Amino acid sequence: MSLNTILLTLATLCLLAWVLRQRAVILRLRHLLQRQQAQHLRALAAVRSERDGLLNAFPDAFLIADAQGLIQHCNQAAAALLGPAPIIGRTVLEVLRDARLAAPYLACRNTGEPTAAQVQLPAEAAPARHQDTAAGDSVWLVDAAALPQADAAPHIRILLRDLSAAHQLEQIRKDFVANASHELRTPITLVDGYLETFLEAPDMLDDRVGTLRILGIMRKHTGRITRIIEDMLLISRIESGDASTLRMEEFLLIECVRDMIDRLEPLIRAQNATVAIQLHDSAVTLYGDRFYWTQILFNLIENALKQNPKPGLQVGILSAVFGEGLRLAVVDNGIGIPAADLPFIFKRFYRVEKHHSQNQIKGTGLGLSIVKRAIEAHCGGITCQSAPGVRTSFEITLPRQQSERTKSF
Ligand code: ATP
Ligand code: MG
Repeated sequence: MSLNTILLTLATLCLLAWVLRQRAVILRLRHLLQRQQAQHLRALAAVRSERDGLLNAFPDAFLIADAQGLIQHCNQAAAALLGPAPIIGRTVLEVLRDARLAAPYLACRNTGEPTAAQVQLPAEAAPARHQDTAAGDSVWLVDAAALPQADAAPHIRILLRDLSAAHQLEQIRKDFVANASHELRTPITLVDGYLETFLEAPDMLDDRVGTLRILGIMRKHTGRITRIIEDMLLISRIESGDASTLRMEEFLLIECVRDMIDRLEPLIRAQNATVAIQLHDSAVTLYGDRFYWTQILFNLIENALKQNPKPGLQVGILSAVFGEGLRLAVVDNGIGIPAADLPFIFKRFYRVEKHHSQNQIKGTGLGLSIVKRAIEAHCGGITCQSAPGVRTSFEITLPRQQSERTKSF
């Protein structure tokens, strides 16, 4: 082998070794790069999942739209409210559906300034999912602000908060103040009028029969004032937690029901109504605070009677055993409660305005909220079903409770 050949072979081997080393270096670098990329992606995914977790923890709907108005991100509350159609990739206007809801977003997009507004929508314009769960107008806080991007036009975040419940509560409170002042003012004015008449014409007092009649009327009106004030005090007592100090005793349900029917006898007669008691066992006892049970039964039976002044009303008080508990129901075949009002009747001060001539029917709308709270204080529950004009039923369920006698509920 010539020297040249040896040198050439050596040079080739050196070149091969160099190429192999370079290849190893490239492979190592590529591997390093892939590891870094994977680490970067993992870190990015962790940041995203932390961000999603945070945004999903908010009860408000939250959207992020890019500069073209296409939604890039939405939290769970937004998906629940604005779904079920996909949200990502669609425009803000498509997803919000109503121009009034989208207005703050458009203003923010045009001016770059943060924009917030309170928007009231009629039922049919509310987001579809909201329509499934609530009736009537809905009120929304819509808040839009720009999110600056490092290398692109800013994105815009939109926050949608449902203020309907607070708005409705406020409305109910306003109605109550008007209603309660009216309810109190009417009897007070009448009593005041009679007293003034007596003071101006004291000779009237000589007419014993006439005076007694007027005193009777005054007594009826002061009774009404007392009832309103007692209801207000009772509800604030139950709500302040005093219900935990229930005076528990065992008593016959039938006795309590009969007491109530006796108290309501004048109303039953005046309305020409019939009240039937159908207990599964006339010896069934309740273990609870008799004062509260009196309030519960009085309110339910009185409601059935007073909402239905037409003659021929039938009211039933029923009981049945179910599993380990007791079911009580007060049913009537009167005017009933429209489906749209049913979710609200147990709220304080709520009265069904549209379908009843509530100006003539006395009440403050506290009765059913007292009923509900008092039943809950006994670990029970109450629901209402109504087919107006056919059957309206308030159904109470009670778990079996401990007492000296095991038969008690
Ligand atoms: P209060 O009980 O404070 O004197 P109220 O009877 O108006 O006032 P709730 O007992 O809370 O208030 O009842 C709320 C509303 O529910 C009533 O105003 C009435 O419109 C409706 N309602 C309740 N029970 C019946 C019923 N059996 N039939 C028809 N409507 C009813
Ligand atoms: Mg009532």
